[in-house]
Amino acid sequence: MVERTGLILIGAPGSGKGTQAKKLKDQLGFAHISTGDLLRAAVAAGSKLGLDAKGYMDAGGLVPDALVIDLLREALTEPAAAKGFILDGFPRTIPQAEALDAAVRIDRVIDLQVPFDLIEERITGRRMSPSGHVYHVKYSPPKIEGTCDVTGEKLYQRSDDTPEKVRARLEKFDAETRPVIARYQSRRIVVAVDGVGDPEAVFTRIMAVL
Ligand code: AMP
Repeated sequence: MVERTGLILIGAPGSGKGTQAKKLKDQLGFAHISTGDLLRAAVAAGSKLGLDAKGYMDAGGLVPDALVIDLLREALTEPAAAKGFILDGFPRTIPQAEALDAAVRIDRVIDLQVPFDLIEERITGRRMSPSGHVYHVKYSPPKIEGTCDVTGEKLYQRSDDTPEKVRARLEKFDAETRPVIARYQSRRIVVAVDGVGDPEAVFTRIMAVL
């Protein structure tokens, strides 16, 4: 059997992980697994997982490891992940990384670096369509304000994309996720990529290091 490729896109909230993961998925044909997207879908569906996760997400905190680890394990078994997978927003803590390493091989970790002072503007200007297209009011606005170019759906702002919650999320990143990067650095599989600039330029940088 051909071994599948495991990639992690790691970086602070607003570093562009989701945007780049979608591009990588299109380019490589791998599954894009975003625990944030899976959790938001669970919240929207009103499932038990969604109800359990909502409070943590609304506060800009992290959802308990046990919940996200179960979610990830399930996503990895999907047929789309057979060739390869791109993890976006997982692992965010050392216990999550340990659970991941016990389940699959990780080949490369892309550490998407964006200075914190650019992040608040990126996140607070972000607007989403229910089908997953992402815009920015200043940098990549839709043609008609508040409306998705692709689907015509009404855009919304994530409830955790406010300045106060962004600060809480960045604190979590420093405290919980930086040690995860260090864990993979000791294995020499981390490549740092400059995440500043337009998404196409960042994507070219990522492809150059893969
Ligand atoms: P994201 O879309 O990746 O920014 O995730 C949105 C929110 O979902 C985060 O702020 C967390 O509350 C929660 N979340 C997503 N992935 C994880 C994870 N791996 N561990 C814990 N919480 C997570």
